[in-house]
Amino acid sequence: MSKIYDLVIIGSGPAGLSAAVYAQRACLDTLIIEKTGMSGGQILTTTEVDNYPGMPGIGGFDLGMKMREHVDNLGGLFQTGEVMEITDHKDIKEIRLDDGNVIQTRTIIIATGASHRKLGIPGETEFTGAGVSYCATCDGAFFRNRTTAVIGGGDVAVEDAIFLARLCQKVYVIHRRDSFRAAKVLSEKLLALENVEVLWNTTPVSITGSTNVESLNIHHKDTGEDQSIAVDGVFIAVGMEPNTDIYKSLVTTDKTGYIVADETCRTNVPGIFAAGDIRTKQLRQVVSAASDGANAVYSVQRYLEENL
Ligand code: NAP
Repeated sequence: MSKIYDLVIIGSGPAGLSAAVYAQRACLDTLIIEKTGMSGGQILTTTEVDNYPGMPGIGGFDLGMKMREHVDNLGGLFQTGEVMEITDHKDIKEIRLDDGNVIQTRTIIIATGASHRKLGIPGETEFTGAGVSYCATCDGAFFRNRTTAVIGGGDVAVEDAIFLARLCQKVYVIHRRDSFRAAKVLSEKLLALENVEVLWNTTPVSITGSTNVESLNIHHKDTGEDQSIAVDGVFIAVGMEPNTDIYKSLVTTDKTGYIVADETCRTNVPGIFAAGDIRTKQLRQVVSAASDGANAVYSVQRYLEENL
């Protein structure tokens, strides 16, 4: 008979790694499955995280590595693989991986986070990797002394624009409203930069070029005019979408795809929990993801006590 884990954590971003810390300390027989073999999740490509208590101004990559190291020091067991299917047999859940392996467990914490939302405009897919990027910290260096545009008005867009302004000759910010969603402190920092031009109330229409991006075409909502801006790169930062595709037939999700779960991280399926950006919540931050990891393991322990 194959081994049955107490807990399998799917995903190794801040929620998954925090859950792993709590699970190790609770002596649960736990396996952490990560898709790429690289822990940290979204923060790996975040330049700076300045709102995680005790870690002012830490680089996102460094924070991710510290979290992984913490789990390693507690003896956490990791496996690389993509989850293809989960079958719920009530007390035992089966997880099928892309290599055909089937893992058995009593409980699951889904902590697979979210991915970059696409704009869906002409040129976006064609020029991805040829001037279109979803990660300024990864690709910004290719645009040194050149002109770029950032689409979006949230924390990521504003942080990306600040980062790019250090490298690029000029940075346009294309935002569909007349105020940023981003934190005030970030917005003020951006607006003080001389080589940044914010085009308020504008929406991207298409991205054009020959082999690489040459222009971004935008629409001014106020005037109804269209404008073509000459740019070498377009950084798209219009939010995230939950990585819930394979879980939608297993647990209840809301109309935007997030798994319905409150602070206890319980889903509608007993023994299956959702932690971090993947669940319905007000604020998706590293600190709230880490908090979910702790809450989810607490709920797992209670579930195991009640059901064994
Ligand atoms: P976000 O906060 O959801 O912002 C997305 C932005 O893109 C919004 O300004 C939105 O406009 C715009 N947008 C969405 N769809 C669009 C479309 N189709 N066309 C044009 N614009 C569009 O997403 P995020 O910036 O990726 O951040 C995700 C989460 O991570 C947030 O909770 C954020 O606070 C958090 N985060 C925190 C930090 C930090 O604290 N250091 C850093 C990064 C991220 P509207 O404003 O008009 O809706």
